[in-house]
Amino acid sequence: MRSIGHFIGGKEVKGTSGRTADVFEPMTGEVQGKVALASKAELRAAVENAKAAQPEWAATNPQRRARVMMKFVELVQRDYDKLAELLAREHGKTVPDAKGDIQRGLEVAEFACGIPHLMKGEYTEGAGPGIDIYSMRQPLGVVAGITPFNFPAMIPMWKFAPAIACGNAFILKPSERDPGVPMALAQLMIEAGLPAGILNVVNGDKEAVDAILDDPDIKAIGFVGSTPIAQYIYERAAQTGKRCQCFGGAKNHAIIMPDADMDQTVDALIGAGYGSAGERCMAVSVAVPVGKTTADRLMEKLIPRVESLKIGTSVDPSADYGPLVTREAVEKVKSYIDIGIKEGAKLAVDGRGFKMQGYEKGFYLGGSLFDNVTKDMRIYKEEIFGPVLSVVRAHDYHEALALPSDHDYGNGVAIFTRDGDTARDFAAKVNVGMVGINVPIPVPIAYYTFGGWKKSGFGDLNQHGPDSIRFYTKTKTVTSRWPSGVKDGAEFSIPTMK
Ligand code: NAD
Repeated sequence: MRSIGHFIGGKEVKGTSGRTADVFEPMTGEVQGKVALASKAELRAAVENAKAAQPEWAATNPQRRARVMMKFVELVQRDYDKLAELLAREHGKTVPDAKGDIQRGLEVAEFACGIPHLMKGEYTEGAGPGIDIYSMRQPLGVVAGITPFNFPAMIPMWKFAPAIACGNAFILKPSERDPGVPMALAQLMIEAGLPAGILNVVNGDKEAVDAILDDPDIKAIGFVGSTPIAQYIYERAAQTGKRCQCFGGAKNHAIIMPDADMDQTVDALIGAGYGSAGERCMAVSVAVPVGKTTADRLMEKLIPRVESLKIGTSVDPSADYGPLVTREAVEKVKSYIDIGIKEGAKLAVDGRGFKMQGYEKGFYLGGSLFDNVTKDMRIYKEEIFGPVLSVVRAHDYHEALALPSDHDYGNGVAIFTRDGDTARDFAAKVNVGMVGINVPIPVPIAYYTFGGWKKSGFGDLNQHGPDSIRFYTKTKTVTSRWPSGVKDGAEFSIPTMK
């Protein structure tokens, strides 16, 4: 049985609160470890450590800070396989998918290697008579990240890589369900040359989160998780004047136009709807075929594909997806399927009865597919976060465009079409933060920014890309005028006593 503590002051330390949470291995359903849950006092100890270390790190020139990040990228690549297996065994996703989780985080660490350039300020010569103006970006001090279970490598790296490169010290409060990889990443940062105290991992639950919210020395919080918690953190952080960005849940639609390449679209829906057991904030959970013929053609191809999904253990290289994260997650998804049936949707494929031979205690669920879902149903309005795809039939393009635009969530959306004009109109008009055109999961690359709209994102700056540098720094603007200097009335001959 593994025992996971916290990472404070450059090393793993044991928890002292006496409270722990079980860390499962979803593929077997067994408890594989206990993670410490921090008390307010333990969080405070981490903040004091970070606060003491931060000024020297901020004063380290940006090229040197970038070199630590470069070394970190190299070390994560060295340990890729080991980290991916650890991740898969705690989260449940398959090993190739776990590698994607690490890769998309690492790309943000690579972006942060450009910090000497990214942090450059502005300069205007002669803004007024004899007046110059310049701005500089300075780190905030101690900042915190609170992250979800579903990307235990990617999202912590999205947070700490830019924050630390900017010269801040970082407190990471990862999900208590899969804390192993965040702890390993912190160790690698130390091996890469990061001074002790700059990256701390405080494991915990609500008590640790509330301690972060109340701590006067934490200047900013980056949160990713479900919408109710995102909104709670955003409101509490605002009360104490902390800078805050909070990303929440999602209900991502894929619009399928009559001219779409149906084979490509079905491939995309299968991967984006059921990959990682649907536990992705950018998973497609609603498919919207436009017109009856499109819908019938789609269902004809989709049903056999959902029925033949290969569900396996997290370490089975041939599995399409593995188990869900916990037994509660399985029960929650099943209850949504029951709700959908009661609401009158047609369950075209029922994954509830799936059993994994030899792993009967694991948290598995087959793929489910609903047809004839309507927008008043709870299974349409709420995030299910499992391997369930809902098909909502639209009569025309305008009805299809209105569905994601009017939905409470606004994380990602995709359109499948061969027509450039339709795609262009859709990208311009849809009321959603990230748009894919024949791309099902439009997660922007590291040097662009990631963020949803409406109930999927609270705050005005996105994650990674240039916004992350703005979020983790404050701008100081200097207006300067120098009095006439020695050049006026300067003496050109050797001064002599008069
Ligand atoms: P969650 O909201 O349960 O937990 C997220 C974090 O908040 C964890 O660190 C957890 O310990 C903490 N937390 C949980 N309950 C809390 C409480 N009552 N008070 C204070 N803190 C609390 O989310 P999750 O189940 O870990 O992750 C899945 C959710 O995250 C889904 O809704 C998914 O869509 C969302 N998500 C969003 C994005 C995005 O970028 N928009 C990315 C990934 C995941």
